[in-house]
Amino acid sequence: MSPQLIDRFGRKVDYIRLSITDRCDFRCTYCMGEDMVFLPREEILSLEECERIVRAFVDLGVSKVRITGGEPLVRKDAIELFRAVGNLPGLRELVLTTNGSQLAQWARELRAAGVARINISLDSLDAEIFRRITRVGDLNKVLAGIAAARDSGFDSIKLNSVLMRGINDHETVALVAFAIDHQLDIAFIEEMPLGAVDHARDATFVSNTETLQTLQQRYALVSSAETTGGPARYWRIPGTRTKIGFISPHSHNFCESCNRVRITCKGEMYLCLGQDDKVDLMPLLRQHPHDDTPLKSAIIEAMQIKPKGHDFDLQRAQPAVVRFMSMTGG
Ligand code: SAM
Repeated sequence: MSPQLIDRFGRKVDYIRLSITDRCDFRCTYCMGEDMVFLPREEILSLEECERIVRAFVDLGVSKVRITGGEPLVRKDAIELFRAVGNLPGLRELVLTTNGSQLAQWARELRAAGVARINISLDSLDAEIFRRITRVGDLNKVLAGIAAARDSGFDSIKLNSVLMRGINDHETVALVAFAIDHQLDIAFIEEMPLGAVDHARDATFVSNTETLQTLQQRYALVSSAETTGGPARYWRIPGTRTKIGFISPHSHNFCESCNRVRITCKGEMYLCLGQDDKVDLMPLLRQHPHDDTPLKSAIIEAMQIKPKGHDFDLQRAQPAVVRFMSMTGG
């Protein structure tokens, strides 16, 4: 039996989210500033180093890996990593979070590589609003990506939507109707104060309590106890195969069941999305190219500094966590 990663609050860590690039072809206003400076290549993990990290975690009992970014599919040769990780014995589930812009090209190969589920971010069904939120994105490409994912045999696809007051919060029902029509799941993520962006977070914040109320006026939602191993709480819409998730870091603190750590493309292991506690794994990889023992020891020891929980406060003038979601890996 694999050893286990257990923190000082007794939480078992069996899930990692690995960001394989800080780069993205979108510039979503809630996620990034407009003029981002991305890391030079030598400062980010090679794909071989990414695989080594995943292998070490799987040896330590991690059974679920999410590849994210930035936009993971803009990284050259990313598919090689999916193939390598998809083949790791001991891994139960390989999943992907993407903005969908490159999925039309990659969906089939991702499926063949062993990706089990895909989360696709979609905040608007109106091309102009979509462009306003992403600053540069093309809605049609994402819709084509969603269609390609379905055609490639992915039967578990979840949309991730961030609603922003006065921008796309009138699309709540339309987004759910789209999910129903295309037999997808959908999760609403409350906007989190990660990194300094060009708007005041509390001006655009829409709580999931409000989103749920909006949806209950339209659909007879039934609360569900199911989980996908993450922080979402789910509701079912009878007569459809769609479930609606709510990821509510503000109104529902889910830290007590946190089962994950995040690894940035620089090899920093963050123990919490909303705190700064971290361990740098890259030096351990580079100083010990043929020995994973120091890497694994550092991962095991890091469980002792996993914080009890995040501490999001929308009223703060400056975010408590200055790194963007694209950096930590959403
Ligand atoms: N590029 C991929 C994508 O678009 O899904 C993966 C990375 S992106 C950082 C992952 C998720 O984080 C997206 O669903 C995005 O909407 C969400 N996200 C980014 N910044 C956020 C924030 N400040 N608050 C809430 N969600 C955020």
